Amino acid sequence: MTAHSGSCLCGAVKFRINGAFEGFFLCHCSRCRQSSGSAHASNLFSPDGTIHWISGRENVKVYHLPDTRFGKSFCSTCGSALSREKAIGTGLVVPAGCLATPVAMKPNAHIFTTSRADWDHDLETVPSFDERP
Ligand SMILES: [Zn+2]
Ligand SMILES: [Zn+2]
Repeated sequence: MTAHSGSCLCGAVKFRINGAFEGFFLCHCSRCRQSSGSAHASNLFSPDGTIHWISGRENVKVYHLPDTRFGKSFCSTCGSALSREKAIGTGLVVPAGCLATPVAMKPNAHIFTTSRADWDHDLETVPSFDERP
């Protein structure tokens, strides 16, 4: 059984996940861009995954956008994205950034790329620095 663990930024929420990841998608849809504040969400999917909240479960809020399948789980103190159970079917959706343990798989694909931000093109050509220049 594959296990991962993670926490939110403020440390109130800590969790452990059991189950293998079978998909890893970078979603550029407008909902993911708006809710993450970034170019895309980076979500892992575990069809048979289960989550155990080690601490802070009372801090975990889940938002479902009405009349859609879109959902987001986050810490109500610091706003960090957290794992959640899928709204339809079984399994977990896990924002890759909330994991403290290494993720062995590479993303499978960018999805909803027709909704990319207008500045989200050729980002690999932007200068990069090891730290803030
Ligand atoms: Zn937090
Ligand atoms: Zn999306």
